[in-house]
Amino acid sequence: MRNKQHIVIIGNGISGTTAAREIRKRSDYRITIVSNETPYFFSRPALMYVYMGQMKFEHTQPYENNFWKKNKIELLFDEVIKVNTSEKKLTLKNSTLHFDILILACGSKPAFYHWKGQELRGVQGFYSIHDLKRLEENTQKCKKAILIGGGLIAAEMAEMLYSRNIHTTLLVREKKYWQENLPPQEAKLVENEITQHGIAIRCETQVEEFLGENGKIIAIKTNQNEIIPCDFAGVCTGVIPNIDFLSTSTIKVDKGILVNEFLETNCSDIYAIGDCAQQKSPLPLRKDIEQVWYTGKIMGETVAKTICEKKTIYRPGIWFNSAKFFDLEFQVYGQVGGIQKNEYDSFYWENTTQHKALRIAYHKQSKSIIGIHSLGIRLKQNVCEEWIKNKVSINQVIEQLNKANFNPEFYTKYEKEISHLFATSIHYSA
Ligand SMILES: Cc1cc2nc3c(=O)[nH]c(=O)nc-3n(C[C@H](O)[C@H](O)[C@H](O)COP(=O)(O)OP(=O)(O)OC[C@H]3O[C@@H](n4cnc5c(N)ncnc54)[C@H](O)[C@@H]3O)c2cc1C
Repeated sequence: MRNKQHIVIIGNGISGTTAAREIRKRSDYRITIVSNETPYFFSRPALMYVYMGQMKFEHTQPYENNFWKKNKIELLFDEVIKVNTSEKKLTLKNSTLHFDILILACGSKPAFYHWKGQELRGVQGFYSIHDLKRLEENTQKCKKAILIGGGLIAAEMAEMLYSRNIHTTLLVREKKYWQENLPPQEAKLVENEITQHGIAIRCETQVEEFLGENGKIIAIKTNQNEIIPCDFAGVCTGVIPNIDFLSTSTIKVDKGILVNEFLETNCSDIYAIGDCAQQKSPLPLRKDIEQVWYTGKIMGETVAKTICEKKTIYRPGIWFNSAKFFDLEFQVYGQVGGIQKNEYDSFYWENTTQHKALRIAYHKQSKSIIGIHSLGIRLKQNVCEEWIKNKVSINQVIEQLNKANFNPEFYTKYEKEISHLFATSIHYSA
């Protein structure tokens, strides 16, 4: 083991923090985390609850402030502006720093598409603590908001604005809400949940220009040449890797920082993890950049093993994501959307009055399941993952559904309905 090497991590989000903790568990290397957003790690998905008054910012920080000193992890609240790979030197705003090993865990930023007027006050994305502060300011006297985009962040922002009684309209490029991401039945459930809360959704509508007065937004001009007045515009058109500061370095980038299966970049002793990493050869059915919490965590663990023990391949396991649209919880395991209809089928059950739905996708011939969607039902992650990993048959899964359920009452209540539908249904191809 190469003791007392200096490992520098850029970014104190979930991926950088996990890497630091896992390296510390395995070595006594010197570890420094540089980050420019906050001095301490916090949970980004929890930011919305701070705005809605359900949490204080301090409560989003999972570790006591003295945790880092106790674990000999140095924290530097500064910004890296340049990486010199040959000299293994970082130029920061306020100093310079040498590294033996560098881990880039610099996350994402909201994607803006060079719209006219996007710099106006009252136009913003939502990613960072600074965005949260700006949102507080921008929505102080706001009555009418427009959100551009229909993804998860738009749904979260809609809920945030709803909590302050701000009338909100979502502008969505696609023909139907969420139908790019979900089969039509689930998309409809999500749409209903959102519109029931008074949020308007306008499909096939895109922003052309933000219109302002005295430097502040007053309206949006759409691609249909319509002017919609508003006093706030949230840009929710996705996120992109936050890698501009690498433009003068020799680290190869594309949309993100290019890495191999060991999360190594093209430069020796330099790794990239989390939202900013782009797999050169993505795993089958997986995206090259995956901007979710749990993959950042697994990447952090993987890179720590590679640095401290032996070269370890990044294996993210079964795809998982979860979201909450107001009161509707949504979970996805494995592959459900975009499956080949000639090979796969899916079983769908829905209880419309209770806003609950379950879809299980499976291989037509072998009957082994490949993915699960659940809405309004919370399933146990480990059970669902085991089922998919072990290629358990759809029949067995239906029989054992109670094993996956957090709420045993649910299964007792709907067991008959689900089993009966399964026994009699004509399955829908997702
Ligand atoms: C509002 C919101 C809700 C979300 N909800 C969910 C959810 O429910 N489930 C889920 O799975 N995912 C969710 N995500 C996505 C998830 O939060 C991210 O995938 C995850 O936080 C990325 O972690 P990371 O460590 O890769 O990067 P980040 O958390 O972005 O951390 C990177 C840090 O590096 C800093 N940094 C960047 N460049 C420099 C530099 N040059 N110098 C110094 N510091 C630098 C950044 O300021 C940042 O603080 C959500 C994201 C948002 C924005």
